[in-house]
Amino acid sequence: MEKPRKRRFEVLVIAERCKECGMCIHVCPKNVLEVGKKSNSRGFYVTIPARPEDCVGCRICEYICPDFAIVVRESSDGHPRGIIQWSEDRVDEVAPSSSREEAVVRA
Ligand code: SF4
Ligand code: SF4
Repeated sequence: MEKPRKRRFEVLVIAERCKECGMCIHVCPKNVLEVGKKSNSRGFYVTIPARPEDCVGCRICEYICPDFAIVVRESSDGHPRGIIQWSEDRVDEVAPSSSREEAVVRA
């Protein structure tokens, strides 16, 4: 019998809305989020979904963010993804840590 596919999630942060309050980082039970190294136009260091492969889709971060800066949804292709949307046409994607490790191994 085919094994059920593990559910994976996309965690999107809308950078301009983030005010670096840290609430999402504090409540995430899986330590997916952390403060990034880049700031938005208001000077706030934007939260990044650094470990999207660990996200369980509970959406606590989305509910707690006072500025509606986080959106979590199930990944349509089964790959976890961390996305930081800086503007309509500028998006950064965080590769899952496992791929980063593979990339280091292949390099
Ligand atoms: S809760 Fe929202 S505003 Fe606060 S750090 Fe997280 S994404 Fe930014
Ligand atoms: S949905 Fe849950 S596990 Fe995923 S980043 Fe948000 S708080 Fe963390």
